[in-house]
Amino acid sequence: MSAQPSTGRLVYRQDLTPDLAIIRIQPSDGSPVPDFRPGQFVTLGLKLEGEDKVTNRAYSLASPPEEKRHFELYIKWAQEPVPGKFTSALFNMKQGDELYWRKPAGAFTIEDKKPDGSPDERDMVLVASGTGLAPFVSYAMHLRAAGSKRKIAVLHGARSASELGYRELFEKMQNGNFVYLPTVSRPKEPGSEGWKGHTGRVESLLIPNGGMSELEKALGHRVTPENSSFYICGYSGTIDSVISILQPLGFVSNRNKRKDGSFDVKVETYG
Ligand SMILES: Cc1cc2nc3c(=O)[nH]c(=O)nc-3n(C[C@H](O)[C@H](O)[C@H](O)COP(=O)(O)OP(=O)(O)OC[C@H]3O[C@@H](n4cnc5c(N)ncnc54)[C@H](O)[C@@H]3O)c2cc1C
Repeated sequence: MSAQPSTGRLVYRQDLTPDLAIIRIQPSDGSPVPDFRPGQFVTLGLKLEGEDKVTNRAYSLASPPEEKRHFELYIKWAQEPVPGKFTSALFNMKQGDELYWRKPAGAFTIEDKKPDGSPDERDMVLVASGTGLAPFVSYAMHLRAAGSKRKIAVLHGARSASELGYRELFEKMQNGNFVYLPTVSRPKEPGSEGWKGHTGRVESLLIPNGGMSELEKALGHRVTPENSSFYICGYSGTIDSVISILQPLGFVSNRNKRKDGSFDVKVETYG
């Protein structure tokens, strides 16, 4: 990897569950966070016990570029089938501890123009499983700060209600132009007590149920490649399932663009 990494300090940590946290990292030298685009990731590095080299992992930025004091990240402690190497060390960190970071990178950014240069004004449907929500927190906060008029729908799937990070933020943002549709796949398990919302995986919100899907009911119209663009982030299973639902409707992903370079679905895979 090029250039020396910078150091950063963990300045905030909110544990949503024992294995899910929102953390903030501030450049140790007091400099502002460098410019980046919503949807990019930062590479964190840690010297793990018994290892000579620094171990690096990518994490999507949940904070918008307007937030210059710190990077905010939404991180799951990988536990299955064996404890994750990096996240096991990260979840042991306390406020004030230091780590390495490299400047933001990545192409999972908002498409605001079509290949012919005309503005892309389609509704943006942001589909996430688990911590795949992180880039969409950045998108939503950035578009709000920029006064964007684009309609946004955030679809978030988590195992339990307690794992619906950023729920309060998104519930407060709901209005005619901002739709929030959370769903829980294990509604009967601890952490979901009292949950009365949608159940099932996030892709179930896209499957027609008595005519329209839950997404279409919330938007008030059918979704087509002409009126909607999709962004999907998370593990490959979610991405493949969502694409398999959208493809028969005529949606084309950035993995397989049309000849003119256009596409309607942009994806980011965590692994
Ligand atoms: C662009 C990008 C953005 C990302 N953004 C985020 C984010 O915002 N939030 C987030 O939480 N994650 C994000 N990730 C994932 C993150 O980079 C790490 O992959 C994740 O945190 C796990 O790292 P780890 O070192 O703890 O796990 P690893 O040690 O790398 O293990 C990964 C998985 O493999 C399993 N495993 C490890 N060894 C074995 C073995 N011998 N046999 C079988 N299974 C094994 C582990 O149980 C675990 O499930 C992102 C990834 C990418 C590429």
